[in-house]
Amino acid sequence: MINIVLFGPPGSGKGTQAQHLIEKFNLKQISTGDLFRYNIKNETELGKLAKSYIDKGELVPDQVTIDMLTDELRKPSNTNGFIFDGFPRTIAQTEALEKIVRQELNSEISICLSLVVDDEILVQRLIKRGETSGRTDDSDVEIIRNRIKEYYAKTAEVAELYKKQGKYAEVIGVGNISEISEKLFAEVEKIK
Ligand code: ADP
Repeated sequence: MINIVLFGPPGSGKGTQAQHLIEKFNLKQISTGDLFRYNIKNETELGKLAKSYIDKGELVPDQVTIDMLTDELRKPSNTNGFIFDGFPRTIAQTEALEKIVRQELNSEISICLSLVVDDEILVQRLIKRGETSGRTDDSDVEIIRNRIKEYYAKTAEVAELYKKQGKYAEVIGVGNISEISEKLFAEVEKIK
């Protein structure tokens, strides 16, 4: 299996690049952001809870997120591997993911691919996305800045864990989208 953690701050292009990686390597994407938005749209209890955090630009509590991801991973699927997009976002989630992947898939995380983008570019991208996405967390600069703050406070350190395991690669996430994809593909080819 190839199991990829796609990593980077909000607005770094994880969703876009996940699509390209899925097609190239025949993987299944699990996006915790998309799962939360699906639950919010369907007004589930999980959705209501998640919304109260997401609308402030805060992270949803670890256990809620971990349980949701575990349920998703247990669904039967025929795939070469998974792309985790937007997860893990904390050290606790990173440790939980390692355990779940071992228990449920009898596998491990192959690599953490990190998209690097300057903060001011992130803010610009998210404001622009907010004009069409309808996402409440893209609609306000203060919320956007809080998401980036949460990233540095809680998420950035996740990279250190993968670096220590020698499972980490950075790609600059600014420039031509296909060229960025090619660089990501090359990192995956190295570990295949
Ligand atoms: P972005 O990468 O643009 O911030 P996402 O769609 O990945 O967007 O996430 C949107 C929001 O959903 C986050 O700001 C956070 O509130 C919540 N969320 C998504 N994934 C997680 C996670 N792994 N842990 C906690 N909260 C999460």
